[in-house]
Amino acid sequence: MNGSPWNPVLYKVSSKSIENADLLTFELDPVGDEAIDPIAPGQFNMLYAFGIGEIPISVSSILPSYPTLVHTIQDVGRVSKSLIQLPVGDIIGVRGPFGPEWPVAQVKSKDVLLIAGGVGLCPLRPVIEYILDHREQFGEVNVLFGTRHPDNIIYHRDIISWQSDPSINFQITVDHAFPSWRGNVGVVTHLIDKAKFYPENTISFLCGPEVMMRFGIYACLDAGISEDMVYLSMERNMKCAIGLCGHCQVGPYFTCKDGAVFPYTMMKPYLNISEL
Ligand SMILES: Cc1cc2nc3c(=O)[nH]c(=O)nc-3n(C[C@H](O)[C@H](O)[C@H](O)COP(=O)(O)OP(=O)(O)OC[C@H]3O[C@@H](n4cnc5c(N)ncnc54)[C@H](O)[C@@H]3O)c2cc1C
Repeated sequence: MNGSPWNPVLYKVSSKSIENADLLTFELDPVGDEAIDPIAPGQFNMLYAFGIGEIPISVSSILPSYPTLVHTIQDVGRVSKSLIQLPVGDIIGVRGPFGPEWPVAQVKSKDVLLIAGGVGLCPLRPVIEYILDHREQFGEVNVLFGTRHPDNIIYHRDIISWQSDPSINFQITVDHAFPSWRGNVGVVTHLIDKAKFYPENTISFLCGPEVMMRFGIYACLDAGISEDMVYLSMERNMKCAIGLCGHCQVGPYFTCKDGAVFPYTMMKPYLNISEL
């Protein structure tokens, strides 16, 4: 990691694009010569709104060239709101990158099943980008995306392109629709019937609310995917990002230091314990 994991590097907001009513995608560029190390799919940065606070946000695209960073932020509270309100040109602090990558580069020739709920699509978008860039190295590729309502859909341009790409099976469902919606309605796990994969040769990555991931994992296992081929991203509330403060502890693990991407086999004993 460049510099200290404690000290934020200055980045400026170089562009903002609206995804939906409470979600924006930012491009950030370093202000001076110092930049954080390149970030990989699955990793996250701590974004610091000066005087307000710092939050973990996953990398949501790897397409712009280093050192530009892309992050998608949902307005849920104090820090995310203040970041979203920053005008282009304003400065924030960035610490990172933190955490392991999705093991996408190590699973060549496998079928891939990505299951995303809501903003859980943000950390999986770089995986889709990587796979499409190296398409010949993978078998069947399925992306199942569930969100609350058609108004909550993000990455519209990408989704149109993924839906029209015959090399990837992109399926979307909403919990509640409006009358003109012609797509799927229901929970994302129902889409698994529309996915094409050979379970014994499949790797699955999941990101979304923990309850969604729990049921998503059960659906993967029921479909015959081996539990050591299932990975998830645990987006627990965290503060320090270096395994000291304990805010993000799950059993013996720190989500910030040992995750946020975990093999399911590591998280299995803890996922069913409520309030953990
Ligand atoms: C590794 C990791 C990657 C993440 N990536 C993204 C991302 O790419 N895009 C994105 O929009 N968000 C992401 N998040 C979630 C984001 O960090 C939280 O939404 C943010 O910390 C909320 O801070 P706040 O000050 O805006 O809200 P607060 O005022 O702190 O909280 C508002 C509400 O959100 C809840 N909350 C706070 N943090 C979390 C959390 N981590 N998970 C669930 N609920 C939370 C609080 O309990 C409260 O109910 C990620 C979280 C982690 C741990």
